[in-house]
This record gives sequence, C-alpha cells and structure tokens, in this order.
Amino acid sequence: MNLIKIAKLIFEYAKYGEDGSVVGTSRAIDNVSIDIEKGSFVAVLGHNGSGKSTLAKHLNAILLPTEGTVWIGEDDTKNPDALWDIRQRAGMVFQNPDNQIIANVVEEDVAFGPENIGVPTRDIWRRVDESLKAVGMTAFRKKSPNKLSGGQKQRVAIAGVMAMKPDCIILDEPTAMLDPHGREDVIRTVHELNKQENITVVLITHYMEEVIDADRIIVMDEGKVVMDGTPKEIFSKVDQLKKYRLDVPQVTELAYELKKEGVPLEDGILTIEELVDALCQ
Ligand code: ADP
Ligand code: MG
Repeated sequence: MNLIKIAKLIFEYAKYGEDGSVVGTSRAIDNVSIDIEKGSFVAVLGHNGSGKSTLAKHLNAILLPTEGTVWIGEDDTKNPDALWDIRQRAGMVFQNPDNQIIANVVEEDVAFGPENIGVPTRDIWRRVDESLKAVGMTAFRKKSPNKLSGGQKQRVAIAGVMAMKPDCIILDEPTAMLDPHGREDVIRTVHELNKQENITVVLITHYMEEVIDADRIIVMDEGKVVMDGTPKEIFSKVDQLKKYRLDVPQVTELAYELKKEGVPLEDGILTIEELVDALCQ
C-alpha cells in the first residue's frame, strides 16, 4: 500500500526583481512522480540544490505544487480541510536541532505537539513516555534541552514528532550538524522506529554511510529523479553517481578501484564484510 503518492510534481519558486515584484520563476522540482510504500525506509540523495528540501516540504504541505499532485494517504495536500490531518500524519525533522526545540524542559518539548492538536492530558503524558523511550532519551526528560548534545537534541526533536503518532517521518539532513557519534545515534533511532513502530521514513542526507541500510534510494539531480533502486543497485553505478556529483561509501569506492585494477569483484559492495568475503574467495 502506498502512503505517499507524488504525481507529475512541478514546483517553481518566484523570482523577485529589485523593486520586489515577481520577474519570473525558477523550477526546483521538474516533473517528479514517486510512490512510497507504507512502512518503507526511503533515502533521498542529491547534490546541493537538486531539490531535496523542496520535495520534502511538499510532503507535509509546507509547500503546495505548482503543477501535479501530492497525496498523503487519501489526502491531497492542496485540500485546506486536510491540512491538520496531513501535518499530524507526516512529521518533519530539520537540520538544525536548536530551531526545533521550544520548551525549557525535554518532556514539555515533546508534549508540545500533541498539546497543540488537543490530545487529552492523560494521553499526552503516555505519548511523551513512549516517545522518549523510543528514542532512548527517558533519562533526560527533566533536563533542559540546552544541556544536551546535538545528537540528543535531534532525538528529542524526533520524539516530539513521534508523540504526534505520525504514519511517516521526513528527516531533512538531520545529522548534518552532528558529530559522528550523534549521527550514528540518530540514524540508529530512525531505523528502530521504522522496524518497531512501522513508521515510514524518508531520510534526506548526503552521508552515503547512512543510506546503505535503506530499503530504497532515490537520487535527485536538477529537480528530477535520476536514479531509483535498492542500495546495491544504486551503488553498483559508481560512474553514474559521480556524474551527479555524489560520493559512494568508502568500501564501495575501494572495491570499485580494486576492480578497475583487475581484481575480480562484483559491483555494489556496501560493507567491509562483503568486501572481505569477496576477496577471500
Ligand atoms: P536541496 O535541498 O537539494 O539542496 P533545494 O530544494 O533547497 O535543494 O533547492 C532546489 C532549488 O530551488 C535550488 O536551485 C535553490 O536555489 C532553489 N530554492 C530553494 N529555496 C528557494 C527559495 N526559498 N526561493 C527561491 N529559490 C529557492
Ligand atoms: Mg536541502
């Protein structure tokens, strides 16, 4: 079953002249169609400016299509009556954790979303408990968010989304400002939510190591979807990825270089174990 359906999406930003009048448009999304299955973990890759954030903002109606349609479940994002439903079902996590934290105490921050949509108090605290537990932050519930590391703050932001009981969570470069340890924690947390709570995940990132466990990778370039497949399929095409100015995981790169030097290896090696196995055969 598809949770998200994007059909022939075109989005154009207005271009403004010096006097503030609209002097034209620039196309950021150029005829994109994507179906995302419920419960799947989808990673979106693409060079800066390829349209990833613009696409993400269509998934909870922050932006509306210039042409084409986006559905979350049965709801067309253009339907104003469905706005709250869509925002509740598709939660967003952004790059900078400091911009997403509102309250002075962790548990209050997590409670903010459900409070805002009128969830009864008793249920709110149960949701806060469950969400903090799901992201491994229960021990910090009474703490000030200011005292947390970037990775911990990002996990609190994710708990805040979880407390809304979304079907889907969209993360736009959530680890870009984190150290390697924080990055690992956040990615592990997102994978657990996907597996254990069956939350559909759309993860935008430019760290290749973060996408090798995704079910599916979508590559964008100049507003278009240019590749779509499993990690193994995508990372088998090193030359094509380089054309789109993307890296590949270090192990994939090493295997690719070895193969070029004549070592018989299959394409799309993603882990050290796979490479070791292949070399020892
Ligand atoms: P990405 O997230 O992949 O870096 P974006 O979706 O942010 O890409 O940007 C896609 C294109 O749209 C880029 O050319 C960018 O300059 C342009 N763009 C993004 N935001 C705006 C905006 N608010 N106004 C005008 N152009 C924008
Ligand atoms: Mg972006």
